[in-house]
Amino acid sequence: MVLIVDDKSENIFSLKTILELHSFPTDTALSGEEALKKILKNSYALIILDVQMPGMDGFEVAEAISGYSKGRDIPIIFLSAANTDKKFITKGYTSGGIDYITKPIDPDILLLKVKTFYRLYEQNRELNRIQADLRSEIEFRKKVEDELQEAMKNKDEFISIASHELKTPLTTIKAYVQLLDRSIAGPGSNKMFVERALVQVNKLDSLIMDLLDISRIESGKLKFNKKVFNFEGMLSNAAETIRQTYPDYRIIRKGQASIGVFGDEMRLEQVIINYLTNAVKYSPDNKEVYIETSIGPDNNLIVLIRDFGIGISKDQQSDIFSKFYRVEESANQFQGLGIGLYICAEIIRRHDGQYGVESEPGKGSTFYFSIPLNNYPNL
Ligand code: ADP
Repeated sequence: MVLIVDDKSENIFSLKTILELHSFPTDTALSGEEALKKILKNSYALIILDVQMPGMDGFEVAEAISGYSKGRDIPIIFLSAANTDKKFITKGYTSGGIDYITKPIDPDILLLKVKTFYRLYEQNRELNRIQADLRSEIEFRKKVEDELQEAMKNKDEFISIASHELKTPLTTIKAYVQLLDRSIAGPGSNKMFVERALVQVNKLDSLIMDLLDISRIESGKLKFNKKVFNFEGMLSNAAETIRQTYPDYRIIRKGQASIGVFGDEMRLEQVIINYLTNAVKYSPDNKEVYIETSIGPDNNLIVLIRDFGIGISKDQQSDIFSKFYRVEESANQFQGLGIGLYICAEIIRRHDGQYGVESEPGKGSTFYFSIPLNNYPNL
C-alpha cells in the first residue's frame, strides 16, 4: 500500500486517482502527525510525502520515521515545490529509498518512480521471507543436531554405566558355571547343558567387554600394556581358540610369524580373534578361513584373514570400521552390534599400524592389518 501524505485534500485526491488507476492500493494522511500514527499501525510499501505542510513538515516526518524500527526501511518520495538540496532530504534517513518529485507533478514520472519502488519493496519482502525461512530452517537443523548430539552423549554414558553394572554379576555367573562344569565328571546330558550355558556366558562376556572398550575409547582410557612378545605363539593360540569354538571350520595357516613384536599381546589377539570370528560368522556356506602372515617391504608384519563368505560391496567397505556400522542387507541374518571392527581399528591405530579390507560380494573378504616391527622403544 502507498501512503500519500499531503495537507491539501485536492492534491491527495489527484495522486490517489492516478495510483489507483494503475492498481496501486493507497492510504492517505492529511498531516505529518496522522502519517506517523498510521505508519506505526499499518505496513506501507512506499510513502509519498509533501514537504511543505503546516505543523510537522515532510523532512521532520521523515526524520521521525527513521527512528521507528517499523518504518525506517520504507522508501519515501518527497513532493517539493522546488528542487530541494538532496543532502538535507536524506538527513536522518539513511536507509530505505529516497527520491523526490517537483511540483507540478508529471503523472508519468510519478508512476515510473512508484513502480520502481514498489517492485523493490516486493523483491525485498520476498528476500526477507526467504531469509526468514532459511533462518528457521537453520534453527530447526541446529535444534535437531543438538538433540542428536545429546542423545549420543547420553548413549555413550548409558553404555558405560550399563556395561560396568552388567560385568560384576556376569563374572560371578561365569565362575559358578565353570565350577559346575568341572564338578560334572564324564560326558552326559547335564554336562552338555552346562557346556552350552558356558558358551553363551562367554559370548555375553565378550559383548560386555566390547561395550566396556567402547566407553574406554570414548573417554580416552583404553590402556595398552606393551612389551615384546612372540607373535607366532599368540597367533597359533588365537587360531586354536577359533578351531575349538567352530569345529566345522578349517582354519588354515600360511606363513609363520616367529618374530618379536612390541605391542599389547592381548589387544592384538583380540583383533585377530575378531577378524577370525567375523570370517566364520559371515561365511555360512564356505567353511575355509585362511590366516596369512608375511613381512612387508617396510619391515612391517602383515596379517591377512581371508574368507570365502558373503563379501562386502565396495561402497560399504570404508564404513565397516566405524562405530555401530553394520551392512544393512545382511544385518538381519547375522547377529552383532557393529562395534568389533571399530575397536580393532583403534587397537591397530594405537600400534601405529594400518588396517583395511578387500572384498567382493559373494566371493569373500580379506581383512588385514600391519604393524611396524621397528617400533621398539629405547629400553
Ligand atoms: P558385527 O559383526 O557385530 O556387526 P563388526 O564391527 O565386527 O560388527 O563388523 C561390522 C560389519 O562389517 C558387520 O556387521 C558386517 O556387515 C561387516 N563384516 C565384518 N566382517 C565381515 C566379513 N568377514 N565378511 C562380510 N562382512 C563382514
